[in-house]
Amino acid sequence: MLQAPADILHRVFGFPAFRGIQQEVVEDVCRGQDVVLIMPTGAGKSICYQIPALARPGCGIVISPLIALMTDQVRALKLAGVRAAALNSQSMDAADTMRAFRDGSLDLLYVAPERANTPGFHDLVQSAPVAVLAIDEAHCVSQWGHDFRPDYRKLKALADRLPGVPRMALTATADAATQADICAQLGIATNRLRVAGFDRPNIRYEVAQKRPGDGQLLALVKSHAGQSGIVYCQTRSETERTAAMLAAGGASARAYHAGLSGDDRARNQRAFQEADDMVMAATIAFGMGIDKPDVRFVAHLGLPKSIEAYYQETGRAGRDGEPATAHMLWGAGDVVRARQRIDEGEAEVERKHHEHRMLDRLVGFAETLGCRRIPLLTHFGEPEPAPCGNCDNCLKAPSVHDVTEPARKLLSAVYRTGQMFGLQHVARVLRGAQDERVAKHGHDRLSVFGIGGELAEAQWMRLGRKLEADGALSRDPDHGGLRLGASARDILKGQSTVAVRQDDWEPRKPARTRSGPAAAPISGPDEPLFEALRIWRREQAREDAVPAYVILHDSVLREIAARRPASRSALSAVPGMGAAKLDRYGGKILALVSQQG
Ligand code: ADP
Ligand code: ZN
Repeated sequence: MLQAPADILHRVFGFPAFRGIQQEVVEDVCRGQDVVLIMPTGAGKSICYQIPALARPGCGIVISPLIALMTDQVRALKLAGVRAAALNSQSMDAADTMRAFRDGSLDLLYVAPERANTPGFHDLVQSAPVAVLAIDEAHCVSQWGHDFRPDYRKLKALADRLPGVPRMALTATADAATQADICAQLGIATNRLRVAGFDRPNIRYEVAQKRPGDGQLLALVKSHAGQSGIVYCQTRSETERTAAMLAAGGASARAYHAGLSGDDRARNQRAFQEADDMVMAATIAFGMGIDKPDVRFVAHLGLPKSIEAYYQETGRAGRDGEPATAHMLWGAGDVVRARQRIDEGEAEVERKHHEHRMLDRLVGFAETLGCRRIPLLTHFGEPEPAPCGNCDNCLKAPSVHDVTEPARKLLSAVYRTGQMFGLQHVARVLRGAQDERVAKHGHDRLSVFGIGGELAEAQWMRLGRKLEADGALSRDPDHGGLRLGASARDILKGQSTVAVRQDDWEPRKPARTRSGPAAAPISGPDEPLFEALRIWRREQAREDAVPAYVILHDSVLREIAARRPASRSALSAVPGMGAAKLDRYGGKILALVSQQG
C-alpha cells in the first residue's frame, strides 16, 4: 500500500505543505512516471525523490557526485528516522549496506556515479526492489554544462537494468541545450521536463558602493551577528586579510581558498558547516558541495564574474527558506578592471564581445535604480516581475543625481585631447591644472581647459569610470588611453542623459546606529527562549556529532519560542517537528520552554 506523500511530508520531514511544484513532481513519480526537474538551489529538490522513495515499495537509489553532500543527507535522514546509507570511496561499511539493501531494510541508498557503474552495483540493484532511481546534479551528464563527468554518460545502462522504475534527473543549472542533453542521455522523454522558477523570494538583494577601509564590511558583518555567512573576496590574500580583520573585530571568522592545504580546507569547511554563527571569507572555490541551509548572508566584495555566478553564489544563502541577505559592495573601478581583463585575455574577438555583453548585464544589475529582481530574473528568461518589496531599491527608492552636463564636458575633453590619455590627465585638463604634462601637450590652450572646476578630481575620475562601465568610454588596447565608446555620441548630442545614485556620487556617512535591517530580527519576550534553544541545539549537535541545523532549523526554534508549546501535542504541531525528532528531543525542548516560562 502506498503511503500518502502529504503524510510523509508531515510525519517524517515535519513540513506542513509542499512548496511550488514539489507536489506535482512527487505525485508523478509516485505514480511511476519519469521526471527531469530543474529547480533553483534551495527550492527543495531532495524531498522530490526522498518522498517517492519512502512512498513506493523498495529502496530509492540516489546518484550523487559529492561525497560531503551525501554524508550530510544521510545523517539528516537518519535523524528523521529514515533508513538511509551511502556507498562511496569513503564508506567503511559497504558490506553491511549491501546486505541491508538485499534484505529490503533500506529506504534510501546514496551512491557515487563511479560506483554505480560497476558490474557489482548492477547486480546489486537487481537483487531487491527499487522504488526510484534519482540522478542528482544531472547537468554533469551534458558536455554543454560546466561540470561534465564522463561517468554520468554511463548511467543510462544502470537505468536500463531497472525497467518500470521511475527515473529522475535533478539539477539547479541547465540551459536549454543541457536540458535536452539530460533527456537524451538518460533516456527520459522531453515532455517529462519540469522547470521551477528562478526567484528566491526570501533573499534580499542589497548593492552598495564600496567605501575605502574595513569599517563598512565590519559593520555589515556585525549587523548579522550570531549568523552564518560567506564573504566572497577577489583574491586568496584578500580572504586571509578579511578573515583576520573580522576576527579582530569580534566575529568568528575563517578563510578558505584553493591555496590552503587540503587539511586546512577540510577543517575550515567542516567548522563552518557545523557552526551556526561563523563567517567564511572565501574565494569562489568555496561553496561547491556545501549544503548548509542556514547561511543567513552572502556578501560579495567586488563584482562577481557574471549574473549566473552571482545567482549561484548568492543562492547559497537562505536555502532553508528563511530570510537571508545578498550584499554586494562594488565600485566602478571593478568594472574597469574586469573590462581590462577581458581585453587583455587570449579569447577570440567574438568571445570577448560576448564577455563584455555579460559584464554589461551585471553592471546593469548593480546600477539599476529599479527592483533588483527585474534584471536578475529577466536574465534567466523569466517575464519581468512586479517590484518585489524585498530589495534595497524597492525598500527605499534611491535618490538620483543628474550628471549629464559634466559627462558631456568629460567626453569632449577626451575628444579634444586626441583620445589617447588616461582619466587622470583628462580630469586635470578639465580642472585647469598647470602641470608639466598639460604644458607639454599644449592642453592649456584647448577650449575644454579649466571648464570643470565644479567637480573635484576624484569625482571626475569616478564619473569617467562610470562612463567606461556604461560603454561611453573605452580603453585603447595598445596604449591604454581613453576613446569615445558606442554610447558617447547620444550623450554629446543631448539625446541621452546620465544619472548616478546620489549615494554613489556623494556617499553619506553611514548611520552610526543600527546598521541596516538584519535578516529575521527576533525581538520581544521570546528572545531569551530562542537563545536558550540555540544553546541547547549547539550542545546537542556536539553530542550527536552533526551540524546544528540537522538537529532543527532556526525557523523551528523561532516558532517554538513564539508558540511556547506546553505539551507534546502542541510541540508536534510546530512545522519542522517530525515524529522522530519529537521522540528524540521533545522532552528536552518542553523542559526548556517551561524553565523559561
Ligand atoms: P535543493 O533544491 O537545493 O537541493 P534542498 O532539497 O536541500 O534544496 O532543500 C532546501 C531546504 O528547504 C531544506 O532545508 C529543506 O528542508 C527545505 N524544504 C524543502 N521542502 C520544503 C517544504 N515543502 N517546506 C518547508 N521546507 C522545505
Ligand atoms: Zn525589488
